[in-house]
Amino acid sequence: MFRIVSIIICLIGLPVFLKGQVKEEVQIKMFFNKALTDRTAYENLRYLCKNTKGRIAGTPEAATAVEFTFQVMNRMNLDSVFLQPVQVPRWVRGEKEQAKILSDKFGNKEVPITALGISIGTGEPGLTAKVIEVHNFEQFAELGEEKIKGNIVFYNRHMDPTLINTFSAYGAATNQRTQGASKAAEYGAVGVVVRSLTTALDDHPHTGVMRYDNNFPKIPAVAISTNGADLLSLWLKEDPNLNFYFRTTCETFPDVTSYNVIGEIMGSKYPEEIITVGGHLDAWDNSEGAHDDGAGCVQAIEVLRLFKKMGIKPKRTIRAVMFMDEEIAQRGGKEYARQADLKNEKHYFALESDRGGLLLKGFGITAPEERLEKMLALKKYFEPYGIQEFTKGGGGVDIGPLGQFGTPLSSFVPDMQRYFDFHHSAFDTFEQVNIRELQMGSAAIASLIYLIDTFDL
Ligand SMILES: [Zn+2]
Repeated sequence: MFRIVSIIICLIGLPVFLKGQVKEEVQIKMFFNKALTDRTAYENLRYLCKNTKGRIAGTPEAATAVEFTFQVMNRMNLDSVFLQPVQVPRWVRGEKEQAKILSDKFGNKEVPITALGISIGTGEPGLTAKVIEVHNFEQFAELGEEKIKGNIVFYNRHMDPTLINTFSAYGAATNQRTQGASKAAEYGAVGVVVRSLTTALDDHPHTGVMRYDNNFPKIPAVAISTNGADLLSLWLKEDPNLNFYFRTTCETFPDVTSYNVIGEIMGSKYPEEIITVGGHLDAWDNSEGAHDDGAGCVQAIEVLRLFKKMGIKPKRTIRAVMFMDEEIAQRGGKEYARQADLKNEKHYFALESDRGGLLLKGFGITAPEERLEKMLALKKYFEPYGIQEFTKGGGGVDIGPLGQFGTPLSSFVPDMQRYFDFHHSAFDTFEQVNIRELQMGSAAIASLIYLIDTFDL
């Protein structure tokens, strides 16, 4: 009897099961085939990098990037392409920064620096002062105002190279950049120089945003290259009375209007349910913004292109969103969620690619328990492509505000060992992106969205 039942199950059940699974596997293979044999996304990235370099929010370069991505999606025969206005800060770096170590013992040496985002400038003559090296805020209490007042504070905390998760190392070192100026100003410092947040030893200063605490005077803040930081630290040991000179002319102006750029394929069954895939269109003005985050933008557009190319009609509406102003005030992501709330939109799932166009290892996902388990179980479809890390916990700066609606949030998680070599520096160029790595990512994102939509996860 058991044997007969087994045979019946085999004859009826198994083929149905196999048929279901095979169809999805074939579709995923097609996503990868189409992505790996097409250069559209890569050429879009080339254009962004080479023609809109320096596209920090509010700049003419950012406006060109808005226009370019709008036109690219407009030519794709999507169901709609539109601009969502957003007010963004306008910070201007000004003239090329200058910095020198001035030592009676070793002589004078120019070092590479970059102003930190939204920092004030030093003023025309620049700033010269003695240097106090610190590694954390706790040291201020023991040093006291008399040691710090009138001096430049030099934050030289390294990103911890022993942390395998380089984002954790970045997180552990970031507060010297973001809060360092005001912490030092509280003790009377006149400026801050921060070791670049990178695991590389090189001559590229890495910028990034900082914030002023209005309770303390605003003082100018710059990042110094890691080689420069090592040299300064070395000389300070032998010549603690050396001076540091730097000159920056950055300024902040009133907010201006910019845009999130949005393209969508309307859902065939649940058009009111939206799946968002995005990256941020702005990039630091000292960089081409290839990995951060031109790659994420062109991948999002590529997802729509792949769906169109393969003639897949998703059940839900799929939107590619180029968010504006992730780097300074995250206004694009906030406005996107605010508009979603105003329009009562239902956001079914959101994914952000903002960790570079490097070789994908997996996805991080934040979702209610039951949906999470089902999404994590999708890993089996990706294993043949070497994509094995499906982990709990995901999101992104721009999609984060959608979390208030209970929307599951996912992050694209590529290999992270080299990401901070590029991050926020002039080294983040188109040439650092590999077309296969970029497109393996595009295909995997399209596949994940396809599976979530198809299986109603
Ligand atoms: Zn980014």
